Amino acid sequence: MRPAIPFLLFLLIPSLPALGSEGLPAAAADGTFPVRLSTWQPAQGEPLLVEAIPPPRADNVVMIWKGREIPMREEGRGKFLGLIGVDLQEPPGDALLTFRAVRGGEMFRVDAQIAVREGTFPVQELTLPKAMTQFDGETLKRINREARRLEERFSRVPSPPAWRFPFLPPVAEFRPKGFGSRRIINGEPRSPHAGVDVDLPAGTPVVAIADGTVAFAGEQFFGGNSVVLDHGGGLFSIYYHLQHGDVSEGQKVARGERIGAVGSSGRATGPHLHFGVRAAGGRIDPSLLFTLPSR
Ligand SMILES: [Zn+2]
Repeated sequence: MRPAIPFLLFLLIPSLPALGSEGLPAAAADGTFPVRLSTWQPAQGEPLLVEAIPPPRADNVVMIWKGREIPMREEGRGKFLGLIGVDLQEPPGDALLTFRAVRGGEMFRVDAQIAVREGTFPVQELTLPKAMTQFDGETLKRINREARRLEERFSRVPSPPAWRFPFLPPVAEFRPKGFGSRRIINGEPRSPHAGVDVDLPAGTPVVAIADGTVAFAGEQFFGGNSVVLDHGGGLFSIYYHLQHGDVSEGQKVARGERIGAVGSSGRATGPHLHFGVRAAGGRIDPSLLFTLPSR
């Protein structure tokens, strides 16, 4: 047993300074700065436009939402803009949005407490043939693989925002429906509808809602021909059931540029566009992007 004592001491001594500093934040905040939110009581599925005015010459201005660090964009006279999304299944109650900026060795930090309200979502009961709702092992594997692949895209460290106001609806006749529907299929609750559906004739052009880069273009079991655009700052737009996609991964697209056409590929009962948006990880009602106050 005797050798165990010096060995333990050796392990403990170097670890003491580390233990001592662990209780402290990485850098204590030296100051604060004003922030403005489009709402302090967002509902589930609502986007939040945020504006921060950090001290002059501060850089590295970020928001931290649900553990994700999101860069903000400077928009004239030291004002920084960003977008976050309250996920449609975010529990109602208090939530913390943190802002951080650095100037020289000084750290500035703001903790904004927001109150998430419960959203109201339609309940959709569907009766479908068993063949449409039950999948064999191979299909289930494919569904899971595709879901993981997209999650990986959404969780990549975001680049600075490339989006600008105003956002453009993805189709000329934008009549969205069904956001957040709690779907009950053959009596069993399923995951809520994370986007909107727009019924349109096959072949109707679909355009990019903002400048960005194609993060995904390919065929999926549920989504059929799918395109996902990365607009920077943690904002992604999602287009499913396309007749065909006109873009390829990594390609830069401009706001209003055609990315595909409406179709009924994948699991669709007829031609329509499924359109979704992720903002800082949150699945939001994409139609609310077009009503945000642009500053
Ligand atoms: Zn849909």
